[in-house]
Amino acid sequence: MNVANNVLSSVLEAVGDTPMVGLRRVGVQGAEVALKLEAMNPGGSAKDRIALSLIATAEQEGRLRPGGTIVEATAGNTGIALAMVAAVRGYHALFFVPDKMSVDKIRLLKAYGAEVRVVKDVPREDPENYQNLARIAAEEMDNAAYMGQFELGANPLAHYQTTGPEIWRQAGPALAAFVAGAGTGGTISGVGRYLKEQDPAIQIVGADPVGSIFTGGPFQPFRIEGMGEDYYPSTLDTQVVDRWVAVSDQQAFTMAKRLAREEGLLVGGSTGAMVVVALQIAAQLPPDRMVVALAADTGRNYLSGFFAE
Ligand code: PMP
Repeated sequence: MNVANNVLSSVLEAVGDTPMVGLRRVGVQGAEVALKLEAMNPGGSAKDRIALSLIATAEQEGRLRPGGTIVEATAGNTGIALAMVAAVRGYHALFFVPDKMSVDKIRLLKAYGAEVRVVKDVPREDPENYQNLARIAAEEMDNAAYMGQFELGANPLAHYQTTGPEIWRQAGPALAAFVAGAGTGGTISGVGRYLKEQDPAIQIVGADPVGSIFTGGPFQPFRIEGMGEDYYPSTLDTQVVDRWVAVSDQQAFTMAKRLAREEGLLVGGSTGAMVVVALQIAAQLPPDRMVVALAADTGRNYLSGFFAE
């Protein structure tokens, strides 16, 4: 209970209902392109939404009890979101992160009080892969729960229940296409399923880094963080995705820089990749239609990365 009317009982109540902003200078051909600014969530990314549902699921299933430890394999944003929720709920947090992850994100995890183990960025078949190490660490600890963002239905469900309806409310029937990148695939699967239920003609398009297997492979390392994989996670529903479009690191980073300088939108490299694809789609559509891309996180995560180049 709060003494005043207009005070949230915790920061977690500020998750969701993020704004959607139309591009004014970067995208001017054909349909309107708008970004859903997930960086406006208190943890700074779309992952705040799934952190709430992953932890709630672990609690309901009895895998996590008071004072327990949250363990996860994360390229950053899920960790930041889980660390925020852990702080509010009084859990410890332990994260396994691949060594390609930006130093900015590792510092953020530590700032929220989490323990971080940086491990080699190796394929999933390798026992030293960050997901395998996180799962085993959780099994070996008492009262510790592996969150499993790459496996749990609670991940796409959070986007089906919150992000999807918000986009439909904000964009409405003009919406012709939705663009997202896929790491776990939770965003594109959950939002895509919801939007297709409202209007099956809405195109669901995946932006994919060159080197990721969703556009055909073979797998090669790439620098864009948070999206693209070397395998198909069970949280990715490929049926929902109409097509995939490959984007290079350079195209993505150049676009992210343009978004900051020309639109005042400080977003990450994955958003740059999505906007490259969204602009291609928009150019083929009339001006009364709309293309929405999900801006997954903030450029502040990459100040010492591609923004410094
Ligand atoms: N962009 C960034 C920056 C991310 O951290 C993520 C999450 N891994 C994504 C895109 C893709 O989201 P999802 O895991 O829901 O596919």
